[in-house]
Amino acid sequence: MNSHGRPTRPADAEPTRHATFTGNRGLDMEEALIFETGRLDATGVDLEAPAPFSSRLGAHARREAIGLPGLTEPEAVRHYARLSRNNYSIDVGLYPLGSCTMKHNPRLNEKVARLPGFADLHPLQPVSTAQGALALIEALAEALLALTGMSAVAMSPKAGAHGELCGMMAIKAALAARGEDKTRSVVLVPDSAHGTNPATAALIGMSVRAVPADADGVVSADSVRAALAPDVGAIMLTNPNTCGLFERNIVAIAEAVHVAGAYFYCDGANFNAVMGKTRPGDLGVDAMHINLHKTFSTPHGGGGPGAGPVVFSERLARYAPAPRIVRSGDALALAEHAEDSEAFGRMSAFHGQMGMFVRAYAYILSHGGDGLKQASEDAVLAANYIRVSLADLMSAPFGDRPCMHEALFDDRWLKDSGLTTLDFAKAMIDEGYHPMTVYFPLVVHGAMLIEPTESESKASLDLFIMALRDLAMKAVSGERERFLAAPIHAPRRRLDETRAARQPVLRWTSPAPV
Ligand SMILES: *Cc1c(COP(=O)(O)O)cnc(C)c1O
Repeated sequence: MNSHGRPTRPADAEPTRHATFTGNRGLDMEEALIFETGRLDATGVDLEAPAPFSSRLGAHARREAIGLPGLTEPEAVRHYARLSRNNYSIDVGLYPLGSCTMKHNPRLNEKVARLPGFADLHPLQPVSTAQGALALIEALAEALLALTGMSAVAMSPKAGAHGELCGMMAIKAALAARGEDKTRSVVLVPDSAHGTNPATAALIGMSVRAVPADADGVVSADSVRAALAPDVGAIMLTNPNTCGLFERNIVAIAEAVHVAGAYFYCDGANFNAVMGKTRPGDLGVDAMHINLHKTFSTPHGGGGPGAGPVVFSERLARYAPAPRIVRSGDALALAEHAEDSEAFGRMSAFHGQMGMFVRAYAYILSHGGDGLKQASEDAVLAANYIRVSLADLMSAPFGDRPCMHEALFDDRWLKDSGLTTLDFAKAMIDEGYHPMTVYFPLVVHGAMLIEPTESESKASLDLFIMALRDLAMKAVSGERERFLAAPIHAPRRRLDETRAARQPVLRWTSPAPV
């Protein structure tokens, strides 16, 4: 236990467990903080004392020892190697987080992204020396336009939420060009939306009017018509939606929105379910972001980096942000201004996440058009395989019909067990699985949202399904204790996540000497 009460050894966290002298459990090593392992008198380097010099720091020169713990090189290597083994990642096992699309990242992408011509680019180097990079951005942009059937694309947004902001800023610019940005200040958002949608609307100074979904989980054109009014500037609709369902009234919704003089923003984070099958441009969408880090592989653990290019319809193309890649003769250049452009400004310094562009383009080239279509089909097939394989044990709010790329369950089936979605999720950790997304979407009670992705083999899905079936049967047959105690086999048990988020202790202080 350290001075903040943080358990530093499993024995502190769980006194009842059979304790080992070291705190290690087999080859699962317990690792203390570097401040707790390091020593002030140890160092991994042996530098010669500097020749006499006169400091120019004056009064700012440090007078006491710096107080940073030192480690020998082997100790430093072990410290970080052991910490890295506490990371669960898609390279270690199935990662069924719904709404996040954690899929295998082909090593080919990684290799190509590390080519020095891409990896060592500097955003300020002369454009004539970055022609290959610009050509790649342009080729990726063309592929995204072909896949979406849209007219223009902004490559610079750096995440899905950033893309939403970009798309909505273009919509606001279009409204302003009509002199309606003040009067049309409302955005319609279904209540099942990802939290970033209402947050984006609020960020650009628009207010949100909720649109209810029907009992079958999708939004009807009638509900949208009922919410449309002269003060509405846009709708933000996710398709496929956060319940894993295709918004089958989307064409009628787009029509109603356009007739009412508003724009249609589509949250395209779930594009990996429909890519190659349907194009937002054909559905009447005006702007949509694509999460390259969800649909086109590219690693996105730990919150970044991502890339959220936004595609625009003909009606919004001229408001897309700068810069644009333009061609003059054989050379490519970045244009801040173009004749047919009323760009609202820029989304970021420079031109976007180059490393993500390279990975996404490698993914697209290695799949080809037919391969991308098959990736969508396989993602949908895998999700439905899970949905059907668990249907007799776990309740699903919309389980009577096929889902798209993620299977949604609720907690009705746990009702008599005295257990919650959280208990079930924690028990999955003991089986070696990262839990699925829980308690989202909010519109479904005790939601469990499972997205297997297309990159899991049938054998891997079968093992996952069998593990979940086994747990589900134990849950309903009254084996409460193992669930309430779970996770038993993880380095830590249940942590106070709320307190950790609200009162994070990010600073280490030396424990009082005993
Ligand atoms: C992931 C996601 C977002 C946000 O994307 P980020 O890249 O995390 O900012 C928005 N909407 C939906 C439906 C998502 O799944």
